[in-house]
Order: sequence, then structure tokens, then C-alpha cells
Amino acid sequence: MMNDRIGVLSGDITRLEVDAIVNAANNSLLGGGGVDGAIHRAGGPAILEACQRIGGCKTGDAVITLGGDLPAKWVIHAVGPRWEGGSQGEADLLRSAYLRSFDLVAQYGLRRVAFPNISTGIYGFPKLEAAQIAIEVTQTVLSTDPAIEEVLFVCFDPENLMIYRELLGQPQAGE
Ligand code: ADP
Repeated sequence: MMNDRIGVLSGDITRLEVDAIVNAANNSLLGGGGVDGAIHRAGGPAILEACQRIGGCKTGDAVITLGGDLPAKWVIHAVGPRWEGGSQGEADLLRSAYLRSFDLVAQYGLRRVAFPNISTGIYGFPKLEAAQIAIEVTQTVLSTDPAIEEVLFVCFDPENLMIYRELLGQPQAGE
């Protein structure tokens, strides 16, 4: 069972001491609101400088920088799609953003990685469908890559927290 290597947490992803945290970035990589803003604020200017050198990232792709002042060693900047009703390839693009992030995890030999709920904030992707995609990709990757020890889903809003706990069979008492 892969789910024993998947954890669900609530709170702020910038506080986690893991090999990499994933950022829900945008195409410019120059920072924005939501988790992106929080990561750049907590990580300091080195992350932005590294992003500027990279120059940008396509939707559905991911790039990696060091973590600057963060407790995490690396930041994987993944660009999920903006929700435009569902007929613009949004599901495939979100799947791709997770898959490309995991490509970097494998390439850099990272063992513990934490994801935010990519695209479900400002980008408006429906939360349940986004969680199903994130979990399915993660289970597939974990089943073929024994080097990854733990994948954490960090849920900042209570609705995502409930959805992830439910889908992963980790309900809290009283739910
Ligand atoms: P997007 O543009 O991809 O939708 P957002 O940053 O707006 O990105 O939202 C992605 C998710 O990150 C949302 O579920 C939001 O609640 C969450 N989020 C915002 N701040 C943080 C944080 N500090 N740690 C973890 N998750 C966060």
C-alpha cells in the first residue's frame, strides 16, 4: 500500500523541514500571491534571483531552485493551470505539473517532499478533482519509485484538509 508514505498536514508549507517543498508558481516565476508569496517572503531574495535566471516556466511544467532561508533545502516551482471551465486541458496540465515535480524529485534524489494544493487557490481549480489528480499521480509514482520516503500534502484551507483526509482514508475523530 502506497498510502503509508503519504501524509496530510494542515498549516504553512514554508515551515517544513523536508528535502523540497513545491511552490504553486506562475509562468513568470517572479512571485505572486498565495503560497507563492509566502515562499518568497520566507525564503528570501535568493529564490527570486534563481527564478529570474531560469526565466520562466510553462504551464504543466516545473523547475527547481535552492530553498534560500527556508528550512527546506529545495523549492520545486510547479505551474498549474488556471481553471477555465474544464475544457481547456486543465486536468492534464495539473497532472503534468505534479508529474514534472516528481521528475525533479527523482533527478535530485529527494526523499521527502511536500506539496501545496496546486491551482486550487487563486487559479480556481475545483478542489475535489484537483485532490484526486494529485493523489493518483502520487500513488503511481510511489509504486514505481522506492527511493521516495514520504510525500506530504499541506492543506492550508479546511476544505482541502477534509478532502485529502477523506480520499486517503485518514479521517480525524469526529469527522
Ligand atoms: P494557485 O494560483 O495555484 O491557485 P494559490 O497559492 O492561490 O495558488 O493556492 C494554492 C493553494 O495553496 C491553496 O489551497 C491555498 O489555500 C494554499 N496556500 C496558501 N498559502 C499557503 C501556505 N503558506 N502554505 C501552504 N498552502 C498555502
